[in-house]
Amino acid sequence: MNPASDRLSQWLAEAQAKRSAASLQRNRIELSQRSAGKARAGGRDLVNFSGNDYLGLATEPALVEALAEAAREHGVGSGASALVSGYNSLHARLEQSLADHLGTEAALLFPSGYHANLAVQTSLASKGDFIVQDRLCHASLIDGARLSGARLLRYPHCDIKGLERQLELADGGQVLVVSDGVFSMDGDIAPLAGIADCCTHHNACLVVDDAHGTGVLGHGGRGSFEHLGVPVARIPVLIGTLGKAFGISGAYVAGSAALIDHLVNHARTYLYTTAMPPPLAAAGLKALEIIQKEVARRDALQRRIGQFRKGAAARGLKLLESETPIQALVIGQASAALETSQRLREQGFLVVAIRPPTVPDGTARLRITLSAAHTGLQVEGLLGALEQCL
Ligand SMILES: *Cc1c(COP(=O)(O)O)cnc(C)c1O
Repeated sequence: MNPASDRLSQWLAEAQAKRSAASLQRNRIELSQRSAGKARAGGRDLVNFSGNDYLGLATEPALVEALAEAAREHGVGSGASALVSGYNSLHARLEQSLADHLGTEAALLFPSGYHANLAVQTSLASKGDFIVQDRLCHASLIDGARLSGARLLRYPHCDIKGLERQLELADGGQVLVVSDGVFSMDGDIAPLAGIADCCTHHNACLVVDDAHGTGVLGHGGRGSFEHLGVPVARIPVLIGTLGKAFGISGAYVAGSAALIDHLVNHARTYLYTTAMPPPLAAAGLKALEIIQKEVARRDALQRRIGQFRKGAAARGLKLLESETPIQALVIGQASAALETSQRLREQGFLVVAIRPPTVPDGTARLRITLSAAHTGLQVEGLLGALEQCL
């Protein structure tokens, strides 16, 4: 072995030992099969309460069929970046359909929400500008802000007064105010009307990442803004992912035609990456159609959320305040969260422990996610198991 790799081996071993000692070692769970709301791991069927497949679309036969048919017609891969030769008629159709659905002039597809979040902030802000974020914004939003070179200011979670104070410091240049629509680890919804007012008052541009609201919230499944009755025109930059309720993979940015043209020209995570595979765009079109037509899926999901919260309250389980499919049960210590997660697994429930740095120190938690695909019986089962394990 050469000395350089010896050095690396030692460094890796030290990092691993540190993670293990703090109960922060992460291991992937190998799933061999999946059906809506379920997963098979280690030869055992589990009810999956740790996915973001909120409407059960990831295994929906109509999507599988749309994807297979498009693959036969267009091939599997896009073959190039969108600006070279990777932009397909299916991409164009999905972009137009998303824009029509959301009520914006245009939309732009990205391979993932992570790409989209880097794209928006690095293309709209740079040195001399300000980005003001909620303290609990998603990691990809923090990374986008850092990469932009703009000064990053953060405000206390969902605190309009705190946002106001930061905006008073942010003078000169472009000012972006950035928030999750639904917070990914807590499940609460950002006060978008108040944030939008604040932005108007300070001439700042509002960017909302609605990864977990898309498809789930609002009568038409348009997301947090629809749920809160905030006109989409008040959110100049709206980001959503296709990896969660849409059941696929990929993301979009929706806004004015000028915004989309700017991103196409300047976003490095758009220019220098292979375009989304066309079959995924075909599946996206089918998912959008179902999201628009099948309100019953959102109704079923809301019933499960209500059932879970009611059952938890009756059992004295203290959930964070949330009306979305994301229900967090804060345990505290990472080791305790891991143990509870393991005991739940033994009882047939997949509920992954979320630990720092994904959440703040001392707030390790079980992040329970509900889906329209879950049955009332499965939710009852989880409640009983939680009561036993805690
Ligand atoms: C999941 C998530 C993302 C990343 O989206 P991907 O499509 O999975 O890359 C971005 N923002 C938030 C708030 C998320 O929860």
